[in-house]
Amino acid sequence: TERDWAAIAQSLAPVEVIDEPVLVKKRSRDFFWYSPILNQELRKCFGDLVALPKTRQELAQCLAVAYSEEIPVVLRGGGTGNYGQAVPLEGGLIIETTAMNRILEIGDGFVRAEAGALMADINAALQPEGWEMAMFPSTQDIATVGGFVAGGSAGIGSVANGPLRENGNIISIKALSMEAEPVEHSFDGDDVLQIHHAWGLNGAITEVTLRTVPTQDWIGCMAGFDDYADCYRAGYALASAPDEDIARKLCSTVDSRICDYFPRLENHVPKGKHLLVSLVPRDQLPAFRNLIEAHGGTVHLAMDEEERTRLRLPHVFEFAYNHTTLQVLKSDRSATYQQIGVPDPSDSDRVAAMRNKLGDDVWSHHEFTRAGGKVLTADLPIIWFKNPERLAEINATYESDGFTVYDAHLNAIEGNHMQPDYRHLAWKKRLDPKGLLNPGKSRVWEKLRHLSPEEIEAMGHKNET
Ligand code: FAD
Repeated sequence: TERDWAAIAQSLAPVEVIDEPVLVKKRSRDFFWYSPILNQELRKCFGDLVALPKTRQELAQCLAVAYSEEIPVVLRGGGTGNYGQAVPLEGGLIIETTAMNRILEIGDGFVRAEAGALMADINAALQPEGWEMAMFPSTQDIATVGGFVAGGSAGIGSVANGPLRENGNIISIKALSMEAEPVEHSFDGDDVLQIHHAWGLNGAITEVTLRTVPTQDWIGCMAGFDDYADCYRAGYALASAPDEDIARKLCSTVDSRICDYFPRLENHVPKGKHLLVSLVPRDQLPAFRNLIEAHGGTVHLAMDEEERTRLRLPHVFEFAYNHTTLQVLKSDRSATYQQIGVPDPSDSDRVAAMRNKLGDDVWSHHEFTRAGGKVLTADLPIIWFKNPERLAEINATYESDGFTVYDAHLNAIEGNHMQPDYRHLAWKKRLDPKGLLNPGKSRVWEKLRHLSPEEIEAMGHKNET
């Protein structure tokens, strides 16, 4: 149906809107173009109008108007997601939260902020108070805290403090329902999982309280290795080290073929080295050097902020997580990536064997994190994309040896393993009874939407037994 968008814009007043088609199109995109498959699928999906609420009252006003007019709504923070999470599949209203960006409270071990606050701004506000975020995404300059808890899962700090879903890393989330009169709901303790990582499907997040940890004097380190297996082994040892010895908050290993695409590191790190990228507390630097040398590596860079500014280098974490992919994409758009779970992270021989088994078109990059007290490793390889068939073959190679593929080329919250989160969907029924929030992103919602929240929740219990 054709809608009168000018009239809708008017009914949103006093909320600021953007209706300029070029700008609306720009805000309909995220970083899905990392995937040639998603790029094909999503590049022509656009919203119709953008609203920029400044307060939660204005956000509630947007939701109420959309509810009464039955307009699909996509919440958007910085738009840095990789799977098209913030791409409107059915057009409609994009609500960008970046003007709702106040940092509301900094206390002992927590920070409370509005959903649109930038992660980097929160980190900057915490530092003088002696705190820092338990973790943050490598996109912190653009990503919002609401987008991080709705779309992200881990980040720099997760190798010390676990993923977002653990250890009370998210203390509280507040979210508005999509009803005639939107109601703000508060999710605390374990209940934050009802809304964390739900891709904006089951409520409009207004406010987030995150755990913080005492800040440390971090040194950004790059160590080089001749052999990738040695580099990986050092990474595993570093990730496993007790915090009293080395409380690293980043641990990534990057294949030398990828590092050749890092022109900024020229003259600082020798060519042809596999790199271990880390952030280490200053007083533990000697222990870090010992660990690297014991594994046959050399520390080439160890910079505090002053030194980094002098050398005019980016933060070391801009060579980790999906920034690794970005560095390669800057010079060659035919690169893409994948997300692979390593079955036994301690088995470096199996990791090395897999690396050899993969073709010349797959270059390793491992991220180490800790979850449930155990070290986990994900391979986020660079893949030189030829066609979907070759990508499927690469996935099959990984799977043939027990590695898990979390397909990065899918725009569905259930992923390729089709694991619906029935708690998310039950809350969707409660907070978004008309199913207008981010429609199309859940493949199972359409089958369940006629059920009551309790019936949807019960499906989860059925699956557990
Ligand atoms: P957006 O992309 O705007 O939104 C993400 C999802 O959240 C969407 O589904 C959106 O609808 C929903 N959403 C946004 N705001 C709200 C709200 N107020 N209420 C309800 N739903 C909402 N991710 C990580 O976890 N760790 C990383 O280290 C990391 N590194 C990355 C590196 C690069 C180079 C890139 C491109 C991406 C990376 N990502 C990473 C993914 C992404 O950057 C993060 O998850 C980021 O935190 C998303 O925040 P955002 O504000 O950009 O969210």
